[in-house]
Amino acid sequence: MGKPTGFIEYSREVNLSISPRERIRDFCEFHIPMENSERQKQSARCMNCGVPFCQSGELFGGMYSGCPLHNLIPEWNDEIYRGNWKQALARLRKTNNFPEFTGRVCPALCEAACTCGLNDLPVTVHDNELAIVEEGYERGWIQPRIPAVRSGKRIAVIGSGPAGLAAADQLNQRGHAVTVFERDKRPGGLLMYGIPNMKLDKRVIDRRIKLMEEEGVDFKTGVNVGVDVPADEILNEYDAVILCCGSKTPRDLPVPGRDSGGVYFAVDFLSDATRRLIGEPVTSDETAKGKDVIIIGGGDTGNDCVGTCIRQGCKSVIQLEMMPKLPDERAETNPWPQWPNVCKVDYGQEEAVAVFGNDPRIYQTTVKEIVKDEDGNIKSVITVKLEPKKNKKTGRTVMKEVAGSEQELECQLLLIAAGFIGCQDYVARSFGVEKTPRGTVATKDGDYSTGVEKVFTAGDARRGQSLVVWAIAEGRECAKQVDEFLMGYSNML
Ligand SMILES: Cc1cc2nc3c(=O)[nH]c(=O)nc-3n(C[C@H](O)[C@H](O)[C@H](O)COP(=O)(O)OP(=O)(O)OC[C@H]3O[C@@H](n4cnc5c(N)ncnc54)[C@H](O)[C@@H]3O)c2cc1C
Ligand code: SF4
Repeated sequence: MGKPTGFIEYSREVNLSISPRERIRDFCEFHIPMENSERQKQSARCMNCGVPFCQSGELFGGMYSGCPLHNLIPEWNDEIYRGNWKQALARLRKTNNFPEFTGRVCPALCEAACTCGLNDLPVTVHDNELAIVEEGYERGWIQPRIPAVRSGKRIAVIGSGPAGLAAADQLNQRGHAVTVFERDKRPGGLLMYGIPNMKLDKRVIDRRIKLMEEEGVDFKTGVNVGVDVPADEILNEYDAVILCCGSKTPRDLPVPGRDSGGVYFAVDFLSDATRRLIGEPVTSDETAKGKDVIIIGGGDTGNDCVGTCIRQGCKSVIQLEMMPKLPDERAETNPWPQWPNVCKVDYGQEEAVAVFGNDPRIYQTTVKEIVKDEDGNIKSVITVKLEPKKNKKTGRTVMKEVAGSEQELECQLLLIAAGFIGCQDYVARSFGVEKTPRGTVATKDGDYSTGVEKVFTAGDARRGQSLVVWAIAEGRECAKQVDEFLMGYSNML
C-alpha cells in the first residue's frame, strides 16, 4: 500500500475536460491528462483494502460491479504512487490487452465498487489506467512482442471488435497463427465505426492494430465471411474458428411512416460520421446540419448521437427515453457495491445544455407515427407519453400509452438508438450455429463452444449488446478455451 493516509489527505480529481462550447468545434478527444505528480496523489487514495471489490467483476443485486477483467487495481495504484510506471504497466498488461481502449471508454465498473466510495468519492481507477498505458507508449515500453515458438495451429477470428482483437492477441502470443477476417474497411468493430472519435480517437486503434500486425496477426479486411468467403472454406482451412461478429441487428421502430427519408439507425449514422472524418466513402450524405433532430433512446448510443449532431451543427436536438428518469442519488435499495442506478449527465447532454440551454432528454415518451412531406421525407413525429402499469397476470411492469397525450414535434432527422437484438442471421446460418431466443449465438453457461465442432464465439455475439471491457474479457476466456481445445491443456491466464 502506497500511502496509508492518502485517501484522507487527497480528494478525488478526474482529468479536466475542454469546455463543452469549445470542444464541439471538432471531433477531437477532449480530456486533458493530469501531470504525473498529481496522478501519483490520485493513486495514493487507493487504500489497498482487504477485499478489493473493484477487481471482482461480480453480480451484486442482479448487476455486475467491479472490473470484469479482474485488473490488479490496488497493485498498479501502488506502483504509480511509488513512481514505478514500468512495473505498473507490466501488472496492467497481465489482465488487460487494450487499456488504451478501456481507459477511454469504459464506464468504470471498478469505481462503482471501490471501497473509498463507501463514504467518499472512489479512486480515479479509469483515469489511472489510461495514464499508465499512455506513459508506456510515450516511453517506448510497448513494443511488438513476437512469440519465440509457433505451434503450427491456425485460427480464424471472424470480426475485429474488442472481443475478436482480444482473442487474436491472446492466441497469437501463445504461438498460434491467427487470421482476423473483417468485413469493414478497417479493423476495430464498434471501436472504429460506432464509438465517436471524441471518445476514442481512431489513431489509438490504428496504433494497436499496427502493433498486432508486427506481432504476427494477419488482418484480412473488406471480407464478409458467409458472403465473400463461404464458411466451409474457413472451416476446412483452420483448426479453430471464433465468431466475434457482434450483436449487430438493430431494434427497429415499427410505426407508420417508418419508410420516410431521413430516418436512420444510430450506428449507421455514427459510422458515417466517422467515415467522413477518416476520409472513407459514406453510405449516406445526410448530416444533422441545420436540422431538428430527434433521437429515440436515452442511453449511451443516444448520447453519442447528441454529441455528433451538435458537432455537425444541428438546429435542435431531443432525446426520447421510454423509461422514467433515474434518481439523482443512489436509492436505499441500491447500496454499494452494487452498480449505482442513478441518472448521469454524459458529455453529449452536457454539450446540449451548453448550446441549447437544456438537457435534451424527455422521459416516458416515444414516437407513435412519423409524418412525411410531399417528397417522402420526414417532417415531424407524433409522440405519446408512457406510464408504468403492472400486468396483473405476469406481475411485470410495462410502459403503456397515456391516452390523449399525443404531441407533434418538427423533425427532419430521426435516429433510432433503441438497442440491438442479437447476431445477424446470415453469420449464424453460414456456420450452422444455434441462436438463443435473445438472438445471441447459443453456448452452454460459462462456455464459449457453440456445439458445432471447432467453432467458438465471444463478445456481443455471445453475450448480447454489452461493453468493451466485457468483450475483452470474453475474448480472453474464449482464447483460453480454444488453446485447451487445440493443445489439450492451457496455461493462459
Ligand atoms: C454507438 C455505440 C457506442 C458505444 N459506446 C461504448 C462505450 O463508450 N463504452 C463501452 O464499454 N461500450 C460501448 N459500446 C458497446 C461496445 O462497443 C460493444 O459492446 C463492443 O464493441 C462489442 O465488441 P465485439 O467485439 O463483441 O463486437 P463489435 O465491436 O460489434 O465487432 C464485431 C465486428 O464483426 C464484424 N463482422 C460481423 N460479421 C462479420 C462477417 N460475417 N465477416 C466479417 N466480419 C464480420 C463487424 O463488421 C464488426 O467489425 C458502444 C456501442 C455502440 C453501438
Ligand atoms: S477496464 Fe473498466 S472496470 Fe476494469 S479497471 Fe479499467 S476502467 Fe475499471
